Amino acid sequence: ATPTAVMVATGKGASQGVLIKGGNALEKAHKVKTVVFDKTGTLTVGKPEVVSAVLFSSFSMEEFCDMATAAEANSEHPIAKAVVKHAKRLRQKIGSDAEYITEIKDFEVHTGAGVSGKVGNRNVLVGNRRLMQVCNVLVGSEVEIYIREHEQLARTCVLVAIDGEVAGAFAVTDPVKPEAECVISFLRSMGISSIMVTGDNWATATAIAKEVGIEKVFAETDPSGKADRIKDLQGKGMTVAMVGDGINDSPALVAADVGMAIGAGTDVAIEAADIVLIKSNLEDVVTAIDLSRKTMSRIR
Ligand code: ADP
Ligand code: MG
Repeated sequence: ATPTAVMVATGKGASQGVLIKGGNALEKAHKVKTVVFDKTGTLTVGKPEVVSAVLFSSFSMEEFCDMATAAEANSEHPIAKAVVKHAKRLRQKIGSDAEYITEIKDFEVHTGAGVSGKVGNRNVLVGNRRLMQVCNVLVGSEVEIYIREHEQLARTCVLVAIDGEVAGAFAVTDPVKPEAECVISFLRSMGISSIMVTGDNWATATAIAKEVGIEKVFAETDPSGKADRIKDLQGKGMTVAMVGDGINDSPALVAADVGMAIGAGTDVAIEAADIVLIKSNLEDVVTAIDLSRKTMSRIR
C-alpha cells in the first residue's frame, strides 16, 4: 500500500480503537486464513472467580484457605487473585479476626502450572494436576472425580497440596466474553478458521472451545509451544494471526504474521504485538482484518 493509504487506514483504525503499529501488519492482515486465540483473558473475561472449595483433609476450611492464600498472594496469575479474593470473603463471612499467615519462604513460580513455598513449617504447593504429578503428589480417585466434574463445566481446578498430600481444591470459573461466539462465526463467514491455544488442561479448554464454536484446540501448551503451533500452521503455507493477552502469549504474538494484543492485557503482550485492540473487544479482530482487506483492495 502507498504510505498515504497506510496512514489513512492507521488513522481510521485508531479512531475505532484498533492501534496498528506500522504498515507491515496492515498489509499482511488481509491474507489471514487462521486466527489463533489464547483462552484465558482473550476468549474469556479473564477475571476468574472461585465457585467451589472442597477439603480432602482434616484442616479447617479457614486454615486451608489461609495456606493457599499465603502462596497465591505472591502470584500475578488471575487464578491466584481469585483464590486470594475467595479466602478474604470466607474470613468476612465467618467473622474471623485471626491473624493472616502471610509469610512464605522459598517461594517459587512454576510457569503455567502454579506456585509453591513454605508457610510456617508446612510445604504448600498450589496448582494444576500436572504440577502435582511433577512434584510427586498423588492425586487420588476422590480428587480426580472432583476435577472431572468441574472441568466438564468448563471450570479450572486448583489443587492445594500441604506437606505432599492434596489437602483440598478450588474450582474456578471464567466466563467467555459475550461477543466471542459471534466473532468466531463471523470470521468463518469471512473464510477464516479459528483455533484455541492454552496452558490450561484439555477438558476445560475443550468445554470453553465448544461454548464459542471453536473446533480445533491445543491445550496444556507452554509459551514456546504456543509459538510452535503458529509456526506449524505457517509451515503449511498459512498466514496466521494470533490474539493474546498474557506474557505467556508473547512468543506466539511475535511468531505470528499478525500479532494482536488485548488492550487490557499485560505490557509484554502489547509490546510484542503488531496490533493492539484497545477496547479489549474481540469484534475488533474483524475490524482489523476488514480494514486491511479494504485498504489492500483499493490499491490493487
Ligand atoms: P493460559 O494459557 O490459559 O493463559 P497459563 O499458561 O497462565 O494459562 O496457566 C496454565 C495453567 O496453570 C492454569 O490454567 C492453571 O491451572 C495453572 N496455574 C498457573 N499459575 C497458577 C497459579 N498461580 N495458581 C494456580 N494455578 C496456576
Ligand atoms: Mg491469557
